[in-house]
Order: sequence, then structure tokens, then C-alpha cells
Amino acid sequence: MVVRRRDFLQMAGVTATAGFASGCAVRNDKVSATPSAARAGSLAAASPTHVSLNLVAPRISWERVIRTTVGLRPHRDSGFVLKAEKFGEKTVIHDYGFGGAGMSLAWGCGAMAADMALEHNDRKAAVLGCGSPGLTAARQLQRRGFEVTIYAMSVPPDTTSNMSYAGFTPTTALIANEHRTPAWDVQFRRAAEISYRQLQLLAGAPGWGVYWIDSFNATDELNEQRPSEREDDLLPESMRPERDREVFGPGEHPFPTQYAVRTSSLAIEPSIYLDKLVADFLLFGGKIVIRKFDTPRDLTSIPEFLVVNCTGLGSKTLFNDNELVPIKGQLTLCIPQPEVRYRAFGRLRNSTVAASISPRSDGIVVGNMMERDNWSLDPNPDVRQQNMDAAIQFFAVMRARSGRVAPLDRTGELVPRSQPFAYIRPA
Ligand SMILES: Cc1cc2nc3c(=O)[nH]c(=O)nc-3n(C[C@H](O)[C@H](O)[C@H](O)COP(=O)(O)OP(=O)(O)OC[C@H]3O[C@@H](n4cnc5c(N)ncnc54)[C@H](O)[C@@H]3O)c2cc1C
Repeated sequence: MVVRRRDFLQMAGVTATAGFASGCAVRNDKVSATPSAARAGSLAAASPTHVSLNLVAPRISWERVIRTTVGLRPHRDSGFVLKAEKFGEKTVIHDYGFGGAGMSLAWGCGAMAADMALEHNDRKAAVLGCGSPGLTAARQLQRRGFEVTIYAMSVPPDTTSNMSYAGFTPTTALIANEHRTPAWDVQFRRAAEISYRQLQLLAGAPGWGVYWIDSFNATDELNEQRPSEREDDLLPESMRPERDREVFGPGEHPFPTQYAVRTSSLAIEPSIYLDKLVADFLLFGGKIVIRKFDTPRDLTSIPEFLVVNCTGLGSKTLFNDNELVPIKGQLTLCIPQPEVRYRAFGRLRNSTVAASISPRSDGIVVGNMMERDNWSLDPNPDVRQQNMDAAIQFFAVMRARSGRVAPLDRTGELVPRSQPFAYIRPA
């Protein structure tokens, strides 16, 4: 669901009261004394008319939890592998190792792998793997005229890609900065640009589950919002989220922090998106064969001489890539709330754990985690508890403004019911 600033402003009306109970709209409140939201990252941009956010608070509670999912991000300290290798008569084009960026970079690396395949005489290709990298590589091959068969031991909904949070996060858990090389950086930028363009074209297209959404980082420290030097350097200018950065000051947003920083995010609903990729692949004549490969020798049993390897973590044993390491991720999902149309991330002052929500049609995603070298696919109950506790507390404060629940003050303490709730405006 797209909620754009422009749309907000078209919906805006002049009103004196600020409420956060329903809808997702912005009000143009006439306020004379309060400092205005600082637009485009500048706090100096004070104006007598400012815009307040009216966001539906998510209902996060244990009773609304519907599942917890785990996935293992296929990380390599030196980044993804995109190169061709010969195994006897077979040419294998590797396309794997995307860490926390495999939903973001797949179209681009798939296009580059397919361009490498064009250098080969054959127009029949095998793709190993049926997650986001495998399916997009297969579509890129089909677009270039290849007849493609996907071989995989698991297909959606049973891939790591289905367990993804699935934002456009092209640099997340992707590479250790000190391992970057100029050649890899060039591959990365090209992959990121192709992917970003492709996902933009799918955004809002029926049946794809790709869309733009506002993301709010609720914070007391505006300096925390500055992008890291690494991202500044690696990520092309056009993809930096802070390009479209808007700061809402005290009193202008419903979060229990001083500021709320809005950026625009490109997001994917993994189950819808991957099913659509499978459907498109089949529509263009693709075949899917369920099978496992144990060693490169197993490739002799398939007819194709051209193979694109998108097995992710599977390449550790299959192609003996010892650099691959899992980074375990875990998401908890609550019953969907279609009226919540923004992502939010923030932390109460007395909390060590950040709260986050991301609304999808299959549930409101709560929390996330990154644990290197943990191969367990079992949910970690302590992480689930921490993520849920943080989200319940944080969003209860936000929700309290609607007067529907017992309020907490901005440090997370319960305010006695006899006391009317009032937003505690930071000094
Ligand atoms: C919690 C979490 C949050 C994430 N958030 C994001 C995000 O916001 N944005 C983003 O871009 N990315 C995100 N990711 C990362 C993204 O999900 C992964 O990078 C991506 O899914 C990896 O895809 P893959 O093809 O390597 O793995 P998979 O999707 O699992 O696909 C691998 C395929 O290879 C097959 N295979 C493996 N070994 C063999 C074998 N020996 N023989 C036959 N078949 C084999 C598997 O069966 C499967 O079909 C997240 C991941 C997690 C877990």
C-alpha cells in the first residue's frame, strides 16, 4: 500500500486538535508557537504552519501472534559470488551469497548472470535453486531467449526467501567492508541499479506484492539518523533512503520519542512475490524439477551444459565454499491490520531493545534478528519475547493517544487510569 506525502497533503484539512485514533493522514495544523517539523533533514526550517501525522497505531499483543519464522541468510564476508566456472563439460555461473540482500539484488545479479550465459552457444540452461535469486535469474534467462529448467530441493513457500523481511536493503549483511574490491563494487552497483529499476516497475503492478511504503524511525537523537559512511560510499546516490527524508518534531507525530524521521521504502511481500515469479516462469515455458545435488559430479546427470548456481547456503557443501556462513533471522507475525500503512522502528528511553513493525497482508511483522553462524531453524523464544515486549510497550504508548488502552508514559511506565493521558512533550 502506498501512502505518499503528496497524497497526504491532498487529504489535509485545517484542524486544531491532534488525534491519532484512525486513518492514515496528515493534518495541516495552524500552530503558532511550536517549532515546525524540520523538512529534508534540516531542523532550521521553522514555519508557522506545520504538518502533524495521523497514523493508526498497530495492535501488538501476544493474543494476536500468529507465527514465528526463521531463515538463514547466506552471508560471505567478501560478498556475493557472480562468476563463471568450468566443471568438465559444464559451465557453472555462480549467483549466490546475498546475505540480507537477496530479495533486493536478485534481479540485477540474475541479469548479469544471464548476460554471461549469452556468451555460451547453448540456449538451454539449468538454474539450481528456486528462491529469489534462482527465480529471477531464470526469468532473466527466459527474457534473453533461453529454455530454462529450475532444479531445486525446495520451492516456495519453503525457501529462505519466503522467510525474508523483504525490504529493498541492498547492503544489509552483505559484505565486510574490508573485503570489498573495486571489481566487486562495480558488480554490486550494477546489480543494485538493475534490481532497483525492476522492482520500481513492479511496484503497484497487480499480483506482485511490491509497493512503496513510508518508514518512520522514531528517535530522540537526530544524529543517529545519519547514514553510515560505508553505505554512503557503497550505495549509489539514487538509492539512499535519506534523499527523501523528513523530520517530524515534538508534537507533530504520535511516537513516544522526540522525533520521527520518515523515509520512503520499497517493500516486497515475499509469499505473493515468489508465487508470482513461479507463475511467470511457468507461463514462459519454464520447468521445475525437485531434486537435490550433492556434488558437482551430479551435474553430469542433467542435460543442460549451462548451469546458473543459485543455491545460496547450499553452495557451502555443493561447491565447497567455506566462506559461506548463515546469519540467522527471525520474524514474529501478528494478525494483519490493513489500516496500518507504514513501517515504524523506535525505542523507549529505558529499553535496550528496539521495537519495530512492518505491515504486510500476511501479518504485521514484529522484530528481526541477526545471529552469525547459527544454523538452527528453531525459533529462539528469548528473542521472540524481547521483540514482542519491546513492540507491545512502544506501540501501547502510541496507541494510548486514541484513548482505547491503558496508557503508558513515554518511558514505558503505566500511567494510573485516573490520570487523563496527555502527551508528555519533551523539554
Ligand atoms: C529474517 C530475514 C530477513 C531478511 N530481510 C531481507 C530484506 O529485508 N531484504 C533483502 O533483500 N533480503 C532479506 N533477507 C535475505 C534474503 O531472504 C536472502 O538473501 C535470500 O532469500 C537468499 O536466497 P537464496 O536463493 O540464497 O536462498 P533460498 O531462497 O533458500 O533459495 C535457495 C534454493 O536453492 C536450493 N538448494 C540449495 N541447496 C541445494 C542443493 N544442494 N540441491 C538442490 N537445491 C538446492 C533450495 O532448495 C532453494 O530452492 C532476509 C532474510 C531473513 C532470513
